[in-house]
Amino acid sequence: MIKIEKPSKPPKILIGKGAKENEENCATYDSGQRKFEFQKKIYGAQSVKNTLLHAQHGKCCYCESRVRATSYGDVEHYRPKGAVKQVKNHPGYYWLAYDWNNLLFSCEACNRSHKGTLFPLKNPGARARSHHDDIDDEQPLFVNPGVEDPRKHIRFQGESPVPRTKVGRKTIEGIGLRREDLEDRRRERLQVLRALQDIIEIGKDSTDSKVKEKVREAQEHLAASIRPNAEYSSMVQDFLGT
Ligand SMILES: [Zn+2]
Repeated sequence: MIKIEKPSKPPKILIGKGAKENEENCATYDSGQRKFEFQKKIYGAQSVKNTLLHAQHGKCCYCESRVRATSYGDVEHYRPKGAVKQVKNHPGYYWLAYDWNNLLFSCEACNRSHKGTLFPLKNPGARARSHHDDIDDEQPLFVNPGVEDPRKHIRFQGESPVPRTKVGRKTIEGIGLRREDLEDRRRERLQVLRALQDIIEIGKDSTDSKVKEKVREAQEHLAASIRPNAEYSSMVQDFLGT
């Protein structure tokens, strides 16, 4: 997981239709009702998806897998919009359904199979229950890669994420960042990188121009593998010790 730099200005549809829907949902709450309807065509609009995908280099905000190769992916609500798994009768963070700061793009495995409506807090007593409460009083136990550098909380040993903080531990567990298929893919990535390191080591003193060219290519691949647009770049940073 790496820090995501979203444009500060929300896509237009969130400012227009999203804000209007939000007003209606807040009025619904104030009238005593606790059932909300959410318009996926607004928070999940193509313009929202594309802006997030661009900011996230086409990768899942949590596991850094390239999403679009195998599925459409989800516009994900960091604070779940319709319910909170740990809390009975919590209406969900309905007032953040169209809030740009609450939206990320994730793969279906991270979002649907693992995170779902989980949203643990260090201070459950301060949990916001409505738009009248202040979410800044909450201390979430899930990393928000749109706000802070996840590497403060999670580092890697080989292909496995290792927590550095309680937030890191809860995030790894809650989002399933040690799931087997993900570890397999990360392991495969490391195998390729080790092969590149071998090429560099074996060919570094060669005077043969073809070998020198291959060494240069291997060095370029390694340098590219830690950039934000590379899959599993956080793991690779730890692997290469950068
Ligand atoms: Zn994911």
